[in-house]
Amino acid sequence: MRYGFGLDITRPAAWRREQLTRLRALLVDRSADFERALESDLGKAPTESQLTEIGFVVTEIDHALAHLESWMRPKRVGVPLALQPASARIVAEPLGVVLVIAPWNYPLMLALSPVVGALAAGNAVVIKPSELAPATSALIARLVPDALDSRAVSVVQGGVPETTELLAQRFDHIFYTGNGRVGRIVSRAAAEHLTPVTLELGGKSPAYVDGTAPLAEVAKRIAWGKFLNAGQTCVAPDYVIGPSAVLRRLAPLLADAVHELYGSAVAQNPDYGRIVNDAQFDRLVGYLSAGEVLVGGTHDRSTRFIEPTVLADIEPGSPILNEEIFGPILPLIPAENLDEAIRLVRSGDKPLAAYVFSDDPAARRAWEERTSSGALGFGAPVLHLSVPGLPFGGVGESGSGAYHGERSFTVFSHQKAVLTKPLAPDTLGPTIMPPYTQAKETLV
Ligand code: NAD
Repeated sequence: MRYGFGLDITRPAAWRREQLTRLRALLVDRSADFERALESDLGKAPTESQLTEIGFVVTEIDHALAHLESWMRPKRVGVPLALQPASARIVAEPLGVVLVIAPWNYPLMLALSPVVGALAAGNAVVIKPSELAPATSALIARLVPDALDSRAVSVVQGGVPETTELLAQRFDHIFYTGNGRVGRIVSRAAAEHLTPVTLELGGKSPAYVDGTAPLAEVAKRIAWGKFLNAGQTCVAPDYVIGPSAVLRRLAPLLADAVHELYGSAVAQNPDYGRIVNDAQFDRLVGYLSAGEVLVGGTHDRSTRFIEPTVLADIEPGSPILNEEIFGPILPLIPAENLDEAIRLVRSGDKPLAAYVFSDDPAARRAWEERTSSGALGFGAPVLHLSVPGLPFGGVGESGSGAYHGERSFTVFSHQKAVLTKPLAPDTLGPTIMPPYTQAKETLV
C-alpha cells in the first residue's frame, strides 16, 4: 500500500459496504475464536467479550451500514448573496492509507472499531494490534486481511521495533489508542510527514459521590464500571471522591456490590478478568500498600488475579494519587465539599471521563461548567461510549480527536470544499474585480 492509495479502489460506496459486511460476518462467524483469544489474553468471560468487544464492533458496523449513504452525501452550504449565482457543498473524501495502533486492554474492539470508520470513509488501513494481547493480535492478523480486501487492509504484528518502523512511513492519518508517553512518540513521528493524528489516551477519571443519590445503587454502578475487565478500562472510574462521612457509608456498599456482581469467591468466578501480564500485576500490587484495604486486597501472581479492592486513607505523596491505576483498585479520596472536590480534580490533568453521582442540581451544574474532561457521566460510568451520537475522545492529556458513530467517518475523511460558479452571467467584474470603485467596498 502506498501513500495516496485507495482513492479509486476504496472510494465506491459498494466497496465500503462490502468490507463492512464482510467484517461483520467475520466477527459473527468466528465469535467463538475471538472469545477464546480474549479469554487467553485477559481472562475475559465470553459474555463480557460479546458485550464490550465483538458485539460492540458489530453494533458499530450496523450503525455505519445504516447511515453510510447519508454520511457520504455531499452537504450543501449557503453562498453569500454577493457571490451568487453559485453553489457550495462539502464533499467527504477518503484520506488514503491510515494507520490504526491499538492497545491491549480491549484488544479486539480498539483495533477494529476505528477500522469501521476508516473503511466507511473509504480508506485503506494498516492495523497494528497490541503485542501485549498476543492471542487476539495473532487472530486479527490471520483472519482480517483474508476476510477483507487484502489490497486495502493489512495487519502488522509486533511491538516497539515494528511500530517504530511503521511510524517512519508516510500515512494519511494515524489513529493511536494507548498511553500518553507513546502518544508523544506517535505525534513526533507523524509531524515528520505532517500526518494528522488522533490520540485516544487515558487518565484518572474521578467518580464524585456526595450522598444525595441512593448509595447502594451508586456503589453497584461504580463497582461495575471499575471492576469490568479487572479495572483495565480507559474510562473506568479511577477513584471515588466525596465527603469522608459519605465514603465511610459507601465502602461496605461497595463490598456488597462486589459480592453481588462476582460472588464470595471472586477468584473462582469466570466473569471476573485477569491482569494482562506480570509487569502490570506487579505495578498494581505495589499500590496495595498505599493505604488501608477496606475491601478485597488478595492477589495471586501465578494466575495474575487481583481481587476487587477498595483502599482508604491513602498516604500523601503515594504514586496511586497521580498515576492512572488501570486495574481493580479503587481508592476513596476525601473532599469535604463540592468546591474542594472540583479543586482537586482541576489540579490534575483533564481526565478522559468524570462521573457524578449526585441528585443535587447545583452540584451537577458545577461539574458540567467548572470541570473539563473527555466526557461527563451523570449516574453511570462507561456507558457514554455506547451512544453513537456522542463523540468519544479525550481532552488535553487524555487525548485529542474523537470517534464513534458519524465521527468515526469524519475523522477518517477530508472535508473538501467545493464551489461551483457559472461563468455567465459575469457577476464578479462589477463587484470584486478592479478597477476598484468606492461602491465595491460595500458589496461583498
Ligand atoms: P500498549 O502497551 O498495548 O501500547 C499501545 C500501542 O502502542 C501498542 O500497539 C504498542 O505496540 C505501541 N507502542 C508501545 N510502545 C511504543 C513505542 N515506544 N513506540 C511506538 N509504539 C509503541 O497499551 P497501553 O499504552 O499500555 O494502554 C493502556 C493505556 O491506554 C491507558 O493509559 C489507557 O487509559 C489508554 N487507553 C485509552 C483508550 C481510549 O479510548 N481513550 C482506550 C484504551 C486504553
